[in-house]
Amino acid sequence: MHLAKFPRTHLAHLPTPLEPMPRLSKELNVDLWIKRDDCTGLSTGGNKTRKLEFLMAEAEASGADMVMTQGATQSNHARQTAAAAAKLGMDCHILLEDRTGYNNANYNTNGNVLLDHLHGASTEKFPGGHDMIEEMNKAAEQKRAEARNVYVIPGGGSNATGALGYVNCAFEMLSQANDMKLKIDRVVHATGSSGTQAGLVTGLCAMNANIPLLGIGTRAPQPKQEQMVYDLALKTAEKLGCAGVVKREDVMANTDYVGEGYGLPTESGVEAIEMFAALEGILLDPVYSAKGAAGLIDLARKGHFASDRRVVFLHTGGAVGLFGYDFAFEAQRRWSSA
Ligand SMILES: *Cc1c(COP(=O)(O)O)cnc(C)c1O
Repeated sequence: MHLAKFPRTHLAHLPTPLEPMPRLSKELNVDLWIKRDDCTGLSTGGNKTRKLEFLMAEAEASGADMVMTQGATQSNHARQTAAAAAKLGMDCHILLEDRTGYNNANYNTNGNVLLDHLHGASTEKFPGGHDMIEEMNKAAEQKRAEARNVYVIPGGGSNATGALGYVNCAFEMLSQANDMKLKIDRVVHATGSSGTQAGLVTGLCAMNANIPLLGIGTRAPQPKQEQMVYDLALKTAEKLGCAGVVKREDVMANTDYVGEGYGLPTESGVEAIEMFAALEGILLDPVYSAKGAAGLIDLARKGHFASDRRVVFLHTGGAVGLFGYDFAFEAQRRWSSA
């Protein structure tokens, strides 16, 4: 496998740290480590930056003067894409779908939305349930009719090109573990549009790492989530020239922590945010990493990791979204009324 043959634009601060979480480990009685992909650097960081290294390189190679993508109102992917485009001197247009129905001001203008605009992106809003792929194709055609050279990035940056960023993360993490003489028994992370998990599983399988990977769902039910990841892993492996390395059973998702739906905070997620913040000084986000961590915490409490000596939580970022979700925190309400 030869990752260096793919065009890549350096956008991320790499390698991201792989660190122990001693206080949370003690609390949960599991040896917990964290891979800090919230620290990729670009506009407060997050997992989309690794994908964008490969996607933006393709955009540049195609001569694009504009990138276009779509996501939920508080999309971390949209914000990182806007930042990457700014850094590379391209225009950025973002289609935002209202998937929550929240009409409070912070949700709609603060957090990621504030940063989209600071990076100079234009945004366009759509009600929930819209066919966003269709809308994006229409918008791209319109820009092309205006003689713009548009490069379209799918939601979450999740195609085989974007997933290469997480093949790279799998290499990086194993290399760090080797250097530290650290045996990793399992990796857990939040999964959504599937590029992160598809890239990781492809990288881990290609290296014969023998480390089970568990995605904690944030939107789709389990069969759909696993199928999405598996389909993209097959395409990613094929692109890399190692077709067949990923088996269906290597793709595991637990979708018990989604709650009422995508982007809607859960009690267990808020508890996870408070625990990571209070015990480790680490910020999670309510849409993704908190639900991933809620799964990690619940499974740890249920003894699910008893036979696994060491669990790595991949922190996918998103804490900027907290400023769009301040209403989700009981404590925050208490402080502000004090
Ligand atoms: C997008 C995102 C995820 C999910 O990653 P996918 O590659 O879309 O599955 C997880 N955490 C955060 C913070 C994200 O922004």
